[in-house]
Amino acid sequence: MDKKTIKDIDVSGKKVLVRCDFNVPQDENGNITDTRRIKGAIPTIKYLMEHNAKVILCSHLGRPKGEVKKEFSLAPVQKELSKELGVDVKLAEDIVGESAKNLTSNMKEGEVVLLENVRFDKREEENDREFSKELASLAEIYVNDAFGTAHRAHSSTAGVTEFLPGVSGFLIEKEIKFLGEALNNPERPFVAILGGKKVSDKITVINNLLEKVDTLIIGGGMAYTFFKAMGMNIGSSICEEEKVELAKELIEKAKQKNVQLLLPVDVVVAKEFSEDADFKIVKASEMEEGWQGLDIGPETIKEYEEVLKSAKTIMWNGPLGVFEFDKFAKGTNEIARILSNLDAITVIGGGDSAAAVEKIGLADKMTHISTGGGASLEYLEGKVLPGIDCLENK
Ligand code: AMP
Repeated sequence: MDKKTIKDIDVSGKKVLVRCDFNVPQDENGNITDTRRIKGAIPTIKYLMEHNAKVILCSHLGRPKGEVKKEFSLAPVQKELSKELGVDVKLAEDIVGESAKNLTSNMKEGEVVLLENVRFDKREEENDREFSKELASLAEIYVNDAFGTAHRAHSSTAGVTEFLPGVSGFLIEKEIKFLGEALNNPERPFVAILGGKKVSDKITVINNLLEKVDTLIIGGGMAYTFFKAMGMNIGSSICEEEKVELAKELIEKAKQKNVQLLLPVDVVVAKEFSEDADFKIVKASEMEEGWQGLDIGPETIKEYEEVLKSAKTIMWNGPLGVFEFDKFAKGTNEIARILSNLDAITVIGGGDSAAAVEKIGLADKMTHISTGGGASLEYLEGKVLPGIDCLENK
């Protein structure tokens, strides 16, 4: 079901509470080191300002664990927002207290107030009904534009909609469009690439994707649990022993569903898990004791490229090797490069794969890069995200 967006309602003259994701990285002096999340929120905020809404922003930042801690204040975000919007954004000293009430009670149209870190109150993460009500009482309409926390049912991400009509902002609208369409109505062939190290984290994703994709490519540390399930020697590669049986079942399921399941044919193995370890390329079927696989090999990259070239929709989540070490980043970087040259719809899950694509400067060559790691993974698992589910249907 399509969700209403800010374009589907009349916001003129109304107080609009917008849940943003201003959880920005900071250095030890509190300076924001990456402003992309703030920049990402601007289109929704500007739209509301231009349509004469009274804009009340809220967000969490870090993990203050329900206590007021100065180092988690949104003050640096306020400065950045004022700069980006070209207006004086006012920062409340609290979330639902006197300061917030004062600043939001006599707002002018187009004015912007930022509430303090919602996680300064422990009731936020408890999705406490009273806190939701207090927060909701500041406004007349709720807008969720924080995809990164949409998989959490907190007061500011879901609870408030018991008391206010809720719609999505442009960021969440985009996430639903690209993740949702790729997953539920993909142009085929539909290929998913899964990497990362933990099968346990991605079992439900694999299970769900096997119902939807034409080809599933598995790389990264996860591949070795599958190799083990196939009876291969994996040397000292990472493996989740207790998931080997499950890997067997997933291989079986892929066969039943007629899904092509691709695993690496060659791997880069190293003597130890370190940046300057000795390494060599071997066939996946010829791994030896004392060596561990840390990246996919060149033959594998070629094979994957062939499959990807004919795909119409590609979804990628998780690095294909230990991309934090330059020596073992080639597989991940090459896959990013291949995707960036394709005509297909390319959707990148948040977290490591998004970081990898950004690091090598290919972000704007992808159709969509999700802004939420955990949330996009839960979306791929087929789970209902409370922060989206609570919004009004069209
Ligand atoms: P995950 O949190 O499960 O998405 O895994 C991401 C992590 O997997 C990254 O930090 C990678 O360095 C790591 N990774 C990828 N491939 C391997 C591998 N072959 N062996 C060990 N770790 C890996």
